[in-house]
Amino acid sequence: MTAALRFDPIRLPEKCEQLRKEVRAFLAEEIAAGTFDPHKPNREDTDAPEFSRRVGAKGWLGMTWPKKYGGQERSFLERYVVTEEMRVANAPTRRFFVADRQSGPVLIKYAPENIKMDILPRICRGEICFAIGMSEPNSGSDLFAAKTRATKTDGGYLINGTKIWTSSAHIADYMIAIFRTSQPTKENRRHGLTQFLVKMKQPGIQVNPIGQITGQHEFNEVVFTDFFVPEDHVLGEVDGAWKQATSELAYERSGPERFLETYYVLTELVRAVGPNPDTRSAEGIGRLVAQLHTMRRMSVSVAGMLQAGKEPVVEASIVKDIGTVWEQQLPHRVRDLAAFVEETATNRETLERQLDFAIKTAPKLTIQGGTTEVLRGIIARGLGLR
Ligand SMILES: Cc1cc2nc3c(=O)[nH]c(=O)nc-3n(C[C@H](O)[C@H](O)[C@H](O)COP(=O)(O)OP(=O)(O)OC[C@H]3O[C@@H](n4cnc5c(N)ncnc54)[C@H](O)[C@@H]3O)c2cc1C
Repeated sequence: MTAALRFDPIRLPEKCEQLRKEVRAFLAEEIAAGTFDPHKPNREDTDAPEFSRRVGAKGWLGMTWPKKYGGQERSFLERYVVTEEMRVANAPTRRFFVADRQSGPVLIKYAPENIKMDILPRICRGEICFAIGMSEPNSGSDLFAAKTRATKTDGGYLINGTKIWTSSAHIADYMIAIFRTSQPTKENRRHGLTQFLVKMKQPGIQVNPIGQITGQHEFNEVVFTDFFVPEDHVLGEVDGAWKQATSELAYERSGPERFLETYYVLTELVRAVGPNPDTRSAEGIGRLVAQLHTMRRMSVSVAGMLQAGKEPVVEASIVKDIGTVWEQQLPHRVRDLAAFVEETATNRETLERQLDFAIKTAPKLTIQGGTTEVLRGIIARGLGLR
């Protein structure tokens, strides 16, 4: 086995705890003002443009980015704390989350300067929303089989084809997508894909909603028909998108969002059992909290390694694997433990409502952002096992 697997024992510095207090105070004000209800994860509209702008005004979007692009040059650990508090409070982060986590860093690395100067400050102000266009019908896990074509034309490219499961495409201002610019070679089946910046809400792009079992509208099918993308919207190397994917994935895979999506059922269970839980409930909750604590330490460790300029791709994949399986099982474990909560408990109704929603949410958690099976393949390769 390789010695490459490593979780540095990172602890959050004191200034992070100060920031945590600020974020909590801000969120408490938002809840008091009625922006969102933390006990209602199943609200119909998770998109909150004004809230997004207020988060931006606090300086909590693009926190780690250079100041010249509107960022704050703060650390990944500080960003970690903001993300964690937003998730724990169930804040409506849909509008800014992808841009802040993923799309901004891709632009910083690969976009021309004029595009960076135009778009990055708007992300930092919470004004714009991004989508990720990777999956296609018949190529989800196997990203490098993508078929949507980008054909060279005067001054740019014409796009034809279909993306699917595209989260937030119906509200997004931009998408970062991969399109096929040439065929794979015999030596390299991953060759031939290029990353592009796509301006949404234009003729040539049709966004078709896909409903989910929860009743929410989160993702879409996106159809491109002779859609024009200008030359300077190519991000990075033509035909070389495969070289750009790995470091992006470390950002995507290891954050607190990867184990906190159903967290609300745990806090609701604690509320429902009250201050004097029976032995079985106390033991069950203790076990869940211990697991959560361990995962969080691993996730903070990855954030610390990113801060130190490392690329902990395998460690990030491990956090996502363990984290998403845990958050997927959490509603079921909570349901088992809730069997011991008195029928007459005053807040049992909220728990039942939340469980109904969380159990319907659970299946997607080990699919979005890369399936468990595929992640385990990456981990095995990283450990030298295949
Ligand atoms: C809520 C949600 C939001 C999403 N948002 C986006 C988005 O914004 N943008 C985007 O591009 N995509 C998005 N996706 C798509 C997601 O990334 C894909 O669904 C995922 O990559 C799986 O692809 P697939 O659905 O084509 O399944 P397939 O790749 O067909 O996989 C089917 C099954 O086969 C298994 N499998 C496939 N290949 C292997 C292998 N090599 N080894 C072992 N097992 C394998 C998989 O684990 C899975 O169980 C989202 C998905 C969900 C559920």
